[in-house]
Formats: sequence, C-alpha cells, structure tokens
Amino acid sequence: MANKYVYFFGAGGAEGNKDMKNLLGGKGANLAEMAGIGLPVPPGFTISTAVCDLFYKSRKRIPDEVKKEVAKNLARLEKALGQKLGDTTNPLLVSIRSGARASMPGMMDTILNLGLTDKTADALVAKTGNPRFVYDSYRRFVQMYGDVVLGLKPVNKDDIDPFEEIIEAKKAERGIHQDTDLTADDLKDLVARFKEAIKEKTGNRFPDDPMKQLWGAIGAVFSSWMNDRAIAYRKMYDIPESWGTAVNVQTMVFGNMGQDSGTGVAFTRDAATGANIFYGEYLMNAQGEDVVAGIRTPLPISELKKDDPKSYAQLEKIRHALEKHYTDMMDIEFTIQQGKLYMLQCRVGKRTAFAAIKIAVDMVGEKLISEKEALSRIEPDQLNQLLRPIFDLKEKEVAIKGGRLLVKGLNAGPGAATGRIVFNSVDAEAWEAKGEKVVLTRIETSPEDIKGMNAAEGILTARGGMTSHAALVARQMGKVCVAGCGELVIDYGKRTMSVNGRVLKEGDWISIDGTTGQVIEGKVNTKPSEVLQVLIEKTLAPAKAPVYQTFAKVMAWADKYRTLKIRTNADQPDQSANAVAFGAEGIGLCRTEHMFFGEGKIGPMREMILADTVEQRKAALAKLLPLQRKDFAGIFEVMAGRPVTIRTIDPPLHEFLPHEEKEQREVAAQMGLSFEKVKERVDSLHEFNPMLGFRGCRLGIIYPEITEMQARAIFEAAAATRKKGINVEPEVMIPLVGNVKELGLQEKIVRQVAEAVMKEQGIKFKYLVGTMIEIPRGAVTADEIATVAEFFSFGTNDLTQMTLGVSRDDAARFLVPYVEKEIYAKDPFEVLDRGGVGQLVRMAVEKGRRTRPGIKLGICGEHGGDPSSIEFCHLVGLNYVSCSPFRVPIARLAAARAAILNAPKTADKKPAKAKAAKPKKSAGKR
Ligand code: PEP
Ligand code: MG
Repeated sequence: MANKYVYFFGAGGAEGNKDMKNLLGGKGANLAEMAGIGLPVPPGFTISTAVCDLFYKSRKRIPDEVKKEVAKNLARLEKALGQKLGDTTNPLLVSIRSGARASMPGMMDTILNLGLTDKTADALVAKTGNPRFVYDSYRRFVQMYGDVVLGLKPVNKDDIDPFEEIIEAKKAERGIHQDTDLTADDLKDLVARFKEAIKEKTGNRFPDDPMKQLWGAIGAVFSSWMNDRAIAYRKMYDIPESWGTAVNVQTMVFGNMGQDSGTGVAFTRDAATGANIFYGEYLMNAQGEDVVAGIRTPLPISELKKDDPKSYAQLEKIRHALEKHYTDMMDIEFTIQQGKLYMLQCRVGKRTAFAAIKIAVDMVGEKLISEKEALSRIEPDQLNQLLRPIFDLKEKEVAIKGGRLLVKGLNAGPGAATGRIVFNSVDAEAWEAKGEKVVLTRIETSPEDIKGMNAAEGILTARGGMTSHAALVARQMGKVCVAGCGELVIDYGKRTMSVNGRVLKEGDWISIDGTTGQVIEGKVNTKPSEVLQVLIEKTLAPAKAPVYQTFAKVMAWADKYRTLKIRTNADQPDQSANAVAFGAEGIGLCRTEHMFFGEGKIGPMREMILADTVEQRKAALAKLLPLQRKDFAGIFEVMAGRPVTIRTIDPPLHEFLPHEEKEQREVAAQMGLSFEKVKERVDSLHEFNPMLGFRGCRLGIIYPEITEMQARAIFEAAAATRKKGINVEPEVMIPLVGNVKELGLQEKIVRQVAEAVMKEQGIKFKYLVGTMIEIPRGAVTADEIATVAEFFSFGTNDLTQMTLGVSRDDAARFLVPYVEKEIYAKDPFEVLDRGGVGQLVRMAVEKGRRTRPGIKLGICGEHGGDPSSIEFCHLVGLNYVSCSPFRVPIARLAAARAAILNAPKTADKKPAKAKAAKPKKSAGKR
C-alpha cells in the first residue's frame, strides 16, 4: 500500500485516534479522538509528522505525493461543509496549526483565517452581513501570515511589533484608544497598510490565491519546527529533533462573530492547586489568541454560566466525559460560534508539582487510576517543587505592614521568588550568567522569552490571565509566576516599571509570591516549604499540612512498589537525621575526610600529614581517634540500626594542607616547626595529577596506621553504641581499589582492629568490609575483588572520570558544548553514561555476583540521585542507591517508577512519559 500522509477528522468520524500521537502529533491525535467519540470538532485533516521529515529531506519542499493527498482531503472537507477555499459566494476558511508528539506550547507557528482575500472577504461580508467581523479576521490573518510566512517581525529586542506599530498609528490618527473602537473601514485600511508594509520591508507580496496561501502556511509551520525557540524548548525538555511536527488544517470557527460568540481555554481541574474544580477562562466576542496572548484579560469560566448557560452546561458534561475517557486532567480549548459550541483542542493538562501530586492522589481515591498509574504520572524531579522555599512569613508581614506591597496579580505559578528586575529575556540570561537572581518583568511574555524565563527566579507580567503564555510556561517550568498585574506600567525603553505612583528601575529588588499573587518591593527572604517544615524543621504538624499529607501518601505508595533500597550520602549526624526524615534506609557513603574540616580536627590532621616518622604520625592519629569516634557514634545513634557505610580517607593529602604563606606560618607556629619545614613538606606533596595520585586506598597502604586509626574509631563507636542498646551495622569501605591485593591488605587491617576492639570491649557486633568500584580495572576484575569484598559501592563520579578520561573538575568548558553537539545526550557526571560507564557497572555486577552470589551492591556517585541513572541501577539489579539527603524522596519515587515502568506487562496501563522541567545540578567535586 502507498504511504498515507494525511488523516481526515470530523464530520462524523476520524481516521486517527489518541494513540497515534507519534504520527499525528498530540493535537492531531486528540482532535481525531474527540471527533471519534462524538464531540463537536470542526472538521479538518492532519498532515503527519512523517511529512516533516520528508519536508526537510526535500530542502523544505512539500513532496508531490503529499500535495496530492492534501488536495484530496481538502476536496473532502469542502464537500462535507459545502464550502470552497477561495469561493466567491461561500468561501472556506481554515486554520493551520503545528502539533508535535509532545506539547510545545506556543513554540511553533499558527495561522488563522486562511483563505481570506479581497474577493472572499467581500463574499463573507455578503454572507454574514458583518463587515467589521470580516475585516477584523482579515487583518488578523494578514498580520499572522505577514509575520510567520513572509517574515515581517521586530528586529531588535526593544522594538515593538511592526503590525502593532501600524495599529497604534491608526488609532492615534483616529483619536481612539481601544482596538474595539476600530471600524470596519479602519480595519480594511489596516489590511491594505499591512500588505504595503510587508512588500516594502520584506520585498514579499501577500498572496491573493488561497491555494498559494495554504502551501505557504503549511511550509512555514513545518519550518517553525527548526526555529530558535522550538530548538531551545526541545533541548530543555529532551524532545528529539527527529520527532518532527504534524500540521493540522482545520475549518475555522469564529468566537468573534458577536456577543453570542466567544472562546476560552480551560482545565478539567485547577492546574495550579489540583483542586477538582472546572478551571478556565473565556472571552466573548474574541478569537483564541486574545485569551492566550493576554491581550485582553479574560473572565473566569464560572461566569459563562450567565453569559451562555447552554454552552456552559455542555462544557461541564464534556469536562467529565473527557476525564473519564482519558483518565487524566485535560486542558481544552473551545469556541462558541453564534451559540454553538466547538472543541478545538484537548490534551493532557500541564500542571504544577502541587497539582500533579494532588490530582494523581485524588484520582486514585476516585477510582479513575491505580496507585501505580499515579506514581508513573509524577516525574521524580517535580518533587523538587514541593521542597522549594516559600517566603519567611514574618518578613513578608513586615514588608507589607511597611507599605511595600506594590500590587496583586494572578497567582499563576506557586512558590516564592526574590530577585532583581530585568525587562527582557536577553538581559535575564546575561544577568543570571553573572550570578544575579532576576525576576523577568514583562508586559506579557511570548515564546521568544523561553530562555529568559528559564534563567529567571520568577516571572511577573502586566497582562494576561491564568492561561496566558507566561502562566502556562512558568507552571510547566516550575517557576514562580505572578501574571496579569494590570496596574503595572512597564516602559521597556526607559527600563522602568511604575505602579500606583512608585517607580522601580532595572536592577531594583522585587519579591513575588506565586501562591498569593502578591508583588512586594525589595527583597524578602525565603524559608523552607511545608514538607520541609514538617519533616526537617518540625515546626508544622502533619495534620495542619495538606500538601505534606499528599506527599506522604505518594511516598508510601512509592515504598510499596520499589525494589531498590534508598540510602544517603551523609557525613554528619544532622545530615543523617534529615535523610532519615526523608525516608533514607541507611548511609551509602560517609566521606570521612569531610569530618576533618570540623571544629578542632584540621590541626591534628595537619600534624599527621606533616609527620616525619611513624611515631609522630601515630601521635597525631591518637589525637584524631577520639574526634572521629565521636562523629561516628553520633551518626550510628541517628541511624538507629540502619546500615552505615563508612569510607576510609580518600582525597590527596595536600588538600588538607595550608597553601598560603600566612596559613603555613600559623601551622608552623602551632606545631613548633619552622616555616621552611612546613613549606618544604607542602611542596613535596604537590602532585601534577592529584586525582590519579596519592589518594584513596593508596594512603592506607603506604600509611597503614591511618586505616588502623579509622577502623578503631569506627568499631569503638560501634561498641559504645551497642552498649547503649542501639543496633549498629558498620560497613567499612575501602576507596579507589583497582587490584584485589590492595583490598586484601586493607581488609586485613580492618578485621584485625575489629577483632581487637570486640575483645577489648567484650561485645560483638556485625560489620562488613567492602570496596568502591570506581576504577575501570576494579570493574573489570570485579570477580577477583569479590573474593575479598562483601559489598561493592559504585563510585560513578570517579568511574565516569576514569572511563571517559574526562576530569570531573575541569570538564565544564567542553562538556557543555559536547552535550550541545549531542556527543553525550546529557552531562555524564549528572546522568549515568549507560553505553560506557554503565557497561562497566553491568560487568562488575555480573562478575561480583558470580564470585559471591550474596554480595551487596549499591551506588554512591552523584548518579544515585538522578532518576534516569536510578532506573539503570534498577535494571542491572543493584540493591540500593545512595544520594544526598534532599534527593531521597526523588530517589524513592524514581525507584518505584523504575520498577513499575519496567515490570513485565500486566493488566495495569502503561502510561505515557510526561517530561518535566529539570533544574540543573552541578556534578560537584565532592
Ligand atoms: C565517586 O567517585 O563516585 C564517589 C562517590 O566518591 P568521591 O565523589 O568522594 O570521589
Ligand atoms: Mg570517588
């Protein structure tokens, strides 16, 4: 059979359905689905994503076989409606919209009212008797077509839109202020002026032939797949370029045909809070772009009950039908044309983390979805939003009492943000790169602003509603946003913002509360989220914290389905306590060297390093022993019987030494040595490549007394803790092992000390001796290493560094471009490189288990907190992952999702993976 490129929908059926997103894009698939289940959808057809690929392969031309199919479907559409494109009595008008597999709101182009020419406009005036409507539609069409297809756009960041400039000039000439005061003749004149401006500034003539218009628009929409903002958006949300976009050609319906017409967007639940209420906005006598672009501020959907009770009742029914059909919260667009309701779009609604979690949990309660389905709908990183700061309430109160509340807008994206005002995206990015916190302040945002929004702490707009571009995109990014502050007067040229008589300049501090909509002058400090207040600060009772309760439910379900255990990387009792509060089941990595930077420890540590003889070294170690013992005992107590992996000292010794002369003199004085002696010793410890130098187990092999002291501190702390009636399970971990003999030598010391301490203390305790697998040779010889090691913990920071031959501390300069060039899909220090490092992990797992079937296997590199890497750990069969305390909830959910999404297929529905904004975290040295 020949390839099929075009799929018809509406007029009593559809050739596609919701499961054909890859081919029809999200919009096309859902239009087909809605038409298929009998909802009122204006008919049209979808040109598939396969054509996007062909389009680019044919140097941006639409292949003839596709053109033929489009013509056939256009004829079918014309027949179904009894209208014809370009007809001079009954002309058909269509919209041309993009629609990729994943939603990319506003990133690509749209053209409405296509088919209008001077002749068809006359015909439409005759047909409708409404010249104002016709010429308003015509000027919108020329404006969009002129911008998108013919390229008349603002040139500089401070420029206003050239079409808006013409409209403003016209209004000034006529002495009017509102667009709605423009008459049909004014609008007709604008059409002519627009066409002239296009010709003059771009050299392109506006086409009078509707078929020419159609091909131009289809080509432009396919081309918009590769515009800057679409590319930036794809990068941000991991959308592959190869997916392409589909193009939907659909019969126009008009919300601007008078007071019995209107248009709106709605969510079947509240997308900001997740509450089960119909949530949306509409405008009577308007087209869709007016609502989304925030040019007029729309009314809440509940008002429609008064304006058009029949359509409202029909929408309420559709709301429930769609939720039942899709078993999810949906985002819909509708138009009412002279009292008749049409559905223009539906898709799974974007939502805040609060809403995502609440909706998933509520839908389990409503028996719409299963617990597993609920978990697979929450992206692990979304939990970050629940852990984000809120304003310090006291400080905020003081600010408000002090008269600093400037204005209140719409609470479009929850959370608290404070930063300096910038007025455009380019500046937002530049200031952020300099380390400034900024609030992007705009009259309204457009898709061009995506990068600036990403760089900003928060977004503040003067115009637009809860479903305006700023609000939608901010929520999706997890950014704080206050939208539609009508009282703000923003002057881009002067870089000022005035509100109720007060003027703020670029660079001034401002604070916005995306949960209440308040905008406050100056800086207001932030404090932990509700979840943190319950779990960490313990200043809020769970019963008074509804967000926490929902969070706790999700965590309980996650724990039910995950098979991986979750541990934490912590070196202090308070960090360990935080991690336990977040659900950590043990410590996967206690970096003992971090402890030496604590109170009173660096002195004896330096003495130990600078010692000339074994005796001197032992004397220094004797001073360190009680300090380390106390630290370990503190951790054992907090962990209360949970396993604790303690790693013997790892970094190069010179990291502990003073490098400045002033510091060296101080150390010399403290130790009764000469400055020259200290300097000489520091110099002698210099290494050209310290990360491959005298570090890790090499230290303990050359200076066994260090390992001896650390083992003694661990076991004496264990004995003391046991004596208090608290269980302990120390796991002593030897770092940087590449050869089983290294481990053997260290193991011998550790076991001798353990036996001695048990004897001295007259008490028995269980303990394990194991190693990190972080050197490629260690992974390759894991079968030999497992003859000694009772556990492996994959140190994927070093393993990545050594496998890729890329310094973990110096890589940023070229890794960022590497990722941009897609040499690595992601920063390999953030997301485990499955193809390389992952293969070593897999090999070590297999070899290790072959030698010692019961060997305990975990990971403690930074990847232990990354959802994709956690999935890999699940797939290769590790026992646990270990991550920083604040990522423990994320890891719990990621582990559950890994188990659910990779389980052999059962009756449970496998959900589509929704991508969410992911905050950058640095690979960090340690
Ligand atoms: C690692 O290398 O992955 C690791 C956890 O150890 P560190 O980061 O301390 O080198
Ligand atoms: Mg390491």
